[in-house]
Amino acid sequence: MSAELPGCHRYLNRVAPTPLVPVQLDRALPPVWCKLEFLNPSGSTKDRIARFILEKAWRQGRVTCGDRVVEASSGSTSIALALACAQMGLRFLAVMPEGVSNERVFIIRAYGGDVAFTPAALGIRGAIAEVERMGTEPGVFLPKQFANPDNAEAHRLGTAREVLDQIPGGKVDAVASGVGTGGTLVGLFEGLRENGCRVVPVLARPINLVSTHEAECCSFSARIPGVADAISEIFHPDRLPGLITAEVRDEDALATTRELIRLGFPVGPSSGLNYRAALDALRRLNDPTAQVVTVFPDRMERYFTTELFKPFV
Ligand code: PMP
Repeated sequence: MSAELPGCHRYLNRVAPTPLVPVQLDRALPPVWCKLEFLNPSGSTKDRIARFILEKAWRQGRVTCGDRVVEASSGSTSIALALACAQMGLRFLAVMPEGVSNERVFIIRAYGGDVAFTPAALGIRGAIAEVERMGTEPGVFLPKQFANPDNAEAHRLGTAREVLDQIPGGKVDAVASGVGTGGTLVGLFEGLRENGCRVVPVLARPINLVSTHEAECCSFSARIPGVADAISEIFHPDRLPGLITAEVRDEDALATTRELIRLGFPVGPSSGLNYRAALDALRRLNDPTAQVVTVFPDRMERYFTTELFKPFV
């Protein structure tokens, strides 16, 4: 089977590294080095894993022209896979629970992908079960972003190396990210560490504060899309020695996201979350020369109908 990568229309392998820029919202602290992942072709960092996983599978002969790629995701990963499949001459099917916003469905269909719905009551687990069932059919390839080690590899070999080339002195003291699959945080951390950085991994965890008359307590907040509390197969504390958790109030994450947008960074809510976690890391490091890296994972346009844009309605 040929390992030649397909597509006379392909531009994906000509996409430049995303910029890494210093952003200083708090004058009392050094700037945070922010990787502008929303500038990837489909608008999110998931373009990296879509391309890396599909190209590797292609080279290994596990997927070929006309095959069908199937993923259980209603989010950025499906959109990125739909774009990559359009570029590679593959078919794509996104399986998602009913009730997902029309915008996402339209984007996937516009790239030539199909969308299948599973009952809303079964949640994402229902979609995953359906995908697993289809994985046994011939000509079907399952990227499985929550289990596939190539998810973190895309960031170890791609994002981390770009950061090292871009940051002054090739020095990174901490890297902060929210976790969905964990691919971003694990891959960035491993890639930076193996290239000599003594880097602290920082988990950005959104919380909502609940005040009772006795005390304040907090729990994981699901108000920041893309970031989950579940532990995926990729995110494992053993892979992140010295991990610290930065808890960020979801209100603060949203306020910081709006502040970033106001400055001209068209980002989604997890960018505000990540930025706040990076500020927390800078405070803990307490060193004016510290260089902390984070990512702005996706674009604001996906969130027009959410809480993020309420103040602008
Ligand atoms: N998607 C979005 C929109 C995110 O903000 C994040 C967290 N930064 C993720 C995904 C999580 O990335 P990963 O799956 O690599 O953990």
